[in-house]
Amino acid sequence: MSFKDNIRKVTPYVAGEQPKVEGKIIKLNTNENPYPPAPGVRKLMDEMRLSDLRLYPNTFAEPLRKELAARYGLKNENFFVGVGSDDVLAMAFLTFFAGEKPVLFPDITYSFYDVWAELFKIPYKRIPLNDEFKINVNDYSIPNGGIVIANPNAPTGICEPLSFIEEMLKKNPDSLVIVDEAYIDFGGESAVSLLSKYENLLVVQTFSKSRSMAGLRIGFAMGSAEAISAMDAVKNSYNSYTMNYPSQVLGVEAVRDEAYFKETCEKIIATRERSKKELAALGFTFPESKTNFIFATHKTMRAEDIAAGLRKRNIFVRHFSKPRIDNYLRISIGTDEEMDAVFAVLKELIHE
Ligand SMILES: *Cc1c(COP(=O)(O)O)cnc(C)c1O
Repeated sequence: MSFKDNIRKVTPYVAGEQPKVEGKIIKLNTNENPYPPAPGVRKLMDEMRLSDLRLYPNTFAEPLRKELAARYGLKNENFFVGVGSDDVLAMAFLTFFAGEKPVLFPDITYSFYDVWAELFKIPYKRIPLNDEFKINVNDYSIPNGGIVIANPNAPTGICEPLSFIEEMLKKNPDSLVIVDEAYIDFGGESAVSLLSKYENLLVVQTFSKSRSMAGLRIGFAMGSAEAISAMDAVKNSYNSYTMNYPSQVLGVEAVRDEAYFKETCEKIIATRERSKKELAALGFTFPESKTNFIFATHKTMRAEDIAAGLRKRNIFVRHFSKPRIDNYLRISIGTDEEMDAVFAVLKELIHE
């Protein structure tokens, strides 16, 4: 017997690599935003005093909740704020999935869901997407302890309309339905408008993608006051001071600058639409993306070989060695210049 026998056995989530190579790189492997955060964030960082860090932060991230409430037309009590949406989603799993029936999510989706289910010993069932990587809402009409849907889905990029989410909620009135909207700001329609009608809905969003703040770790959930207070209770049974003070106040600045937010999202959407045409001309096919990435497969060249070829030229994209998707690449949308460099290299690789 050794302490080693008591170690919890886990298979962790593997994040996209943060490459450490010499020289200039084009990093399109973790769906980060190529543009800087809102200018007000810079200004406030400069004004922050060292002594501001002396005190514990507000446990409920009140200033940020208030700002978010104004932005989304809800009340403070409808917001849970956490250290990236990963933290928010993990807390939601821990809070809402304490039953015995399996929690349902697609077989191809954000690969953290099954990791949390395993960690928290939550029973779960993966429901296969169809051949076009689409979700069939009827597949979820089975006894379940909750449902998790990323909309738009990752890594496919496919966005379902609001009517689809509503149908899922209608068919599962006794289940908590989490809608992970990490990419909703790139052209999808948020389920926020359904919150007044369905108290079993929890909408989760992040500052990491559309607000360019992955490094600050800010995520939030929107739900009924009752659902949110259940999450707060679980969080406060684990760590009261999750979100640090700089993230709370800098997050407020980012939300205030709606014009900059819109402008950068629109730039990314425009680059994405242009990238679709370029990739199609190079022989790639992909599901219709409403995100800041394109999930593409090539008609002749293997995804792994393309990824390796790009990597040699310091261009990083994501390849998943997983069933059904191992011949696909998830290419984040960078600046127009970065994308042009990628297309130039792809042209070489494919015609070699
Ligand atoms: C990026 C991402 C997240 C997590 O983002 P955070 O940086 O933790 O806020 C959650 N869900 C999906 C589908 C994502 O792609």
